[in-house]
Amino acid sequence: MAADRLDTYRAKRDFTQTSEPAGGAHKPARKAKGHGYLIQKHEARNLHFDFRLEHEGVLKSWAIPRGPSMDPGDKRLAVRTEDHPLEYGKFEGSIPKGQYGGGTVMLWDEGTWEPIEDPDEGFKEGKLKFFVHGQRLQGGFALVRLRSDTGRKQGKENWLLIKEKDEFARPGEGGDLIESQLTSVRTEREMEEISHGEAEWHSNESVEANVKRLKTTKRASTARRGPRQRSASPRRAAKKTVSAKKKRKRKSSS
Ligand code: MN
Repeated sequence: MAADRLDTYRAKRDFTQTSEPAGGAHKPARKAKGHGYLIQKHEARNLHFDFRLEHEGVLKSWAIPRGPSMDPGDKRLAVRTEDHPLEYGKFEGSIPKGQYGGGTVMLWDEGTWEPIEDPDEGFKEGKLKFFVHGQRLQGGFALVRLRSDTGRKQGKENWLLIKEKDEFARPGEGGDLIESQLTSVRTEREMEEISHGEAEWHSNESVEANVKRLKTTKRASTARRGPRQRSASPRRAAKKTVSAKKKRKRKSSS
């Protein structure tokens, strides 16, 4: 039963303090065949990317410190973390400081995944091959558990995320996606904007109500900002936006 798999997830969190979903009211029958995929960029004590694959009513999860690479020559460490509730896949907002995973969560990519070989066998054997159909990640990937893994004794497994060689691979440009894509795929907000909490996940409301509010916030912030300016250098553009926002903040707080 999927609900039982979330015991570890729930034990680590105080839901009176965090706006993350508790995952109590999900319906495994409705979602049993789903193959949702998503990545949440998580600025906690250390920045990492939470890679999640929907499987049997929960989100199988790995924390990738350096984020995914599109270069088949790169092997990115992916530390297996506890299964998360499906509702978590819609979460974007802040987790209060001092709480488990305290910091800002951005929906960095979403879509579906497609197992190439039997996924149950893959999880058991520690070798999962699959296609990703995301907005930012595309093509074949492999998640491989390290054999000589001392972390397993403490309940943490070290895996590697490796891009397969295909038409979506970008040899020599592995870090480009992480460096150039700085906004949420769901709300187009940057980390700083999310951390200021224009829209947070309220666990006392339904998933539908939360998603509806996120969409409303997206429309409002897009209108206020006016047409987005494109720049030849996404990194420089991002820096500019941040400093402009800091100025605005200083003004409004005085
Ligand atoms: Mn995380």
